[in-house]
Amino acid sequence: MREPLTPLLLAESSMPDIQSLRESLIGWYISNQRDLPWRRTNNPYHIWVSEVMLQQTQVKTVLPYYKLFIERFASIKQLAQSDLQDVLKAWEGLGYYARARNLHRAAGVVLNHHRGILPDRWEELRKLPGVGDYIAAAVLSIAFNKPYPVVDGNVKRVLARLLLVEEPVNHSTSIGIFKEAADMLLFRQDPGTFNQAMMELGAMVCVPQRPDCKGCPIQEMCLAYNNQQVADYPKKLKRSPAPQFKIAVGVVFKNGKVLITLRKSEGLLGGLWEFPGGKIRNNEKAEEACIREIREETNLIVRVDSHLERIKHAYTHFKINMDVFCCTYISGRVKLNGPVDHRWIELDKLDDYPFPKANHKFFPALTKFVRNRAKAKKS
Ligand code: SF4
Repeated sequence: MREPLTPLLLAESSMPDIQSLRESLIGWYISNQRDLPWRRTNNPYHIWVSEVMLQQTQVKTVLPYYKLFIERFASIKQLAQSDLQDVLKAWEGLGYYARARNLHRAAGVVLNHHRGILPDRWEELRKLPGVGDYIAAAVLSIAFNKPYPVVDGNVKRVLARLLLVEEPVNHSTSIGIFKEAADMLLFRQDPGTFNQAMMELGAMVCVPQRPDCKGCPIQEMCLAYNNQQVADYPKKLKRSPAPQFKIAVGVVFKNGKVLITLRKSEGLLGGLWEFPGGKIRNNEKAEEACIREIREETNLIVRVDSHLERIKHAYTHFKINMDVFCCTYISGRVKLNGPVDHRWIELDKLDDYPFPKANHKFFPALTKFVRNRAKAKKS
């Protein structure tokens, strides 16, 4: 039985294995890679966009967004000169909206300070808003063939099993050892292909549950497989369950229009529009919270007419149960406290604004409610 290797030991003891690992992995990737649109291009901007979208998001979710985004914002210049609201609209539903805001800001920096050309040096690329180690390494290796190892969740899982890494993959202090290991294995003649092969292996073969070890090109070198410990890796720290919040939200009707408010541009869901509302306090009824939150946020007095729907939604670190109410405007002029802008819009204009997914979940019920109310008025 072989001992677990640290990257240092790996370097000292297994160089021939590393070479055959690289050959097996890249050979497998060339024959088995998925045909993805960002793999058909050398355009650094397109590769950058794809990597930003792929952070925290699955390939099948990204595919339609990537296609539309590249059509809509065909160049860095076009992206930089677009309105942030249009960029957020194109990102709507993809989540983690800071990625879109940073991409937009970074495009402005590239346009103004790098003549619209994405920098190909680590120091410059890494300074761009939203460009962390992962994005920098991915773009530099894939678009510019520079020898930087990419370490994402898939790569960490492969490395943890391949080398029996004991450090938990979900703890920030372990990133160093995974980067060291990935750097050790990196095929410096073709880092872009190697990095993509590692990521593809993690996504398609060395998956979290029931990895396909029989079909794995690096099975012979895999310590977890050879030690029959695949199920024990990667190591993970137990996380406490995500907290759950109760939220009340109101759709305020006034003269056939509804009120929407704009969140400030930074922070969770920054720059998106929403219906006003907020957290329900202890011992407070959802209707009361709805009226209070609308008053506090907008200075308007409203009446709750009916309960529209209860929505459940999970964010990365918490979950919400959201009670949505249909309300009628009673009195007051809008004075905002929290939101940075507001609009009274017709319901069929909802699609002109970017909204969070949790709001989208009750749009069908809202449309039905308005249709039924109109029918009832006619009859
Ligand atoms: Fe992952 Fe199994 Fe391949 Fe090891 S042999 S890298 S555990 S798929």
